[in-house]
Amino acid sequence: MRTFKKSSKLDHVCYDVRGPVLDEANRMQADGIDVLKLNIGNPAPFGFSAPEEVITDMISTLRSAQGYSDSHGIFAARKAIMQYAQTKNIPNVSMEHIYTGNGVSELINLVTQGLIDNGDEILVPSPDYPLWTGCVTLAGGKAVHYICDEQSEWYPDIEDMRSKITDKTKAIVIINPNNPTGAVYPKEVLEQIVELAREHELMIFSDEIYDRLVMDGIEHTSIASLAPDLFCITLNGLSKSHMIAGFRCGWMILSGAKEKAKDYIEGLNMLSNMRLCSNVPAQCIVQTALGGHQSVKNYLVPGGRIYEQREFIYNAINDIPGLSAVKPKAAFYIFPKMDTKKFNILDDEKFVLDLLKEKKVLLTHGRGFNWAEPDHFRIVYLPNIEQLKDATGKIADFLSGYHQQ
Ligand code: PLP
Repeated sequence: MRTFKKSSKLDHVCYDVRGPVLDEANRMQADGIDVLKLNIGNPAPFGFSAPEEVITDMISTLRSAQGYSDSHGIFAARKAIMQYAQTKNIPNVSMEHIYTGNGVSELINLVTQGLIDNGDEILVPSPDYPLWTGCVTLAGGKAVHYICDEQSEWYPDIEDMRSKITDKTKAIVIINPNNPTGAVYPKEVLEQIVELAREHELMIFSDEIYDRLVMDGIEHTSIASLAPDLFCITLNGLSKSHMIAGFRCGWMILSGAKEKAKDYIEGLNMLSNMRLCSNVPAQCIVQTALGGHQSVKNYLVPGGRIYEQREFIYNAINDIPGLSAVKPKAAFYIFPKMDTKKFNILDDEKFVLDLLKEKKVLLTHGRGFNWAEPDHFRIVYLPNIEQLKDATGKIADFLSGYHQQ
């Protein structure tokens, strides 16, 4: 009998955020068990909604958005993205070098497929949003992980980054603000990364999907604004800032020394043409979304849901014996550390599975984010405080008697 196996290209690709533990949670739910899912950064199911004007805009443009668009995206969307790039001081941006995508996810796949030859090395953060490692691997490259340092607010460890550059390194990926740590990188750290990229002639990918979800009065800096002499690709979208992850709306901006990347840009154009275009109704709302009322800001200040939930989760986690966490400054994730000796934890995925089975609370294990040690997990703190209280109570209760077998 002929059987069909998955491509060997997938052999080393890992994307555990939606992996086996989630399968188990889905099985439990199918059996009628109520599972509190703190595992996916999807605001809408937790009662967050887009600004009304964005929804109205999409409804009113639906009839005229039935056809394909230019593969780069409709003019109005790219114009709005261009203006957004200007507010972030991103240099040398032109309309032809802005591309819309079906979420940032599609574009991460596109930029890695377009660049990487077998064996090329790309510096990717650890911990990371694992799609980056997955896409680099799928493209035939090697994701070389640089450490983000928990002792220094989870900022990239520049010396570690430096030590991992070889003659095969082509690019540095940064995720700023970061998923899963919630860190926002200050200008001085970004400048050091730029300096390193400059020294070794690397290009920079900056995933900035959380740049409008920053708290505590911190100003977000786009790394591209500091690197006019380097080739940079900045990725962003509306999934998080406008709570419309389901609409699949993202974009990327090529900037800086584009003359160094003529051939690569040709490749990006080809890949962009091959997928025809991104979801057109989602493109139609970009102008209203970026230019209109930024309702997300109300969530991020004292009294706002995300801010208050961040305060709650940060305190609750640090109150649990054996857990500690750095306070996140952006997005809606926290990445606590476990005292592995205390709980005898050798396998963080097993810990997450044990918790799921016993307490019906679903987390994501740290190694799912390409973190090397089994000593972290990620919580999505989008659920309301009542639910977070319930979840952290259950985690505390579970850990009080946990000794991994
Ligand atoms: N980049 C980061 C850092 C993310 O956390 C996510 C989603 O969680 C994405 C990209 C993908 O977002 P999109 O919905 O635009 O595909």
